[in-house]
Amino acid sequence: MCIFCSIVEGGIPSKKVYEDDDVLAILDISQTTEGHTLVMPKKHYDNFLAMPKDEFANLMAVTQTLAEKITGNLNASGCNILINTNAVAGQSVMHAHVHIIPRYSDNDTVSFTFSENIFDLDEVLKKINRD
Ligand code: 5GP
Ligand code: ZN
Repeated sequence: MCIFCSIVEGGIPSKKVYEDDDVLAILDISQTTEGHTLVMPKKHYDNFLAMPKDEFANLMAVTQTLAEKITGNLNASGCNILINTNAVAGQSVMHAHVHIIPRYSDNDTVSFTFSENIFDLDEVLKKINRD
């Protein structure tokens, strides 16, 4: 059973930030920062790659509107929009969702580290664009 499907169906309680026919946004139980929100399609998809493009586009349009509202009303200085895809990337709930993580100038303990590695960029491009 999928936790987020249960939340969509009302079997598990949640703090709803926004809801329409297709999309539900709830406060993340972990509150990485104040206002940390999850935006998800009501229909189950294992991750965003499995979503039809128009449904994903709509999900991101809602995410943009909510990110503006959340950062504005919580006086955040910015936000991170994060989609973890598959376990290797940290996805723990296998129902597509987008994180809105408001960022604050003070008392903000979030850190993303992009380590640097060396690859032959032409080779990388060739691999990406192969049929
Ligand atoms: P992921 O790691 O899959 O990208 O993110 C899943 C998120 O769902 C986590 O940040 C976790 O805190 C949150 N989460 C897991 N279970 C629940 C729940 O029952 N309710 C809410 N509101 N959030 C949850
Ligand atoms: Zn689900």
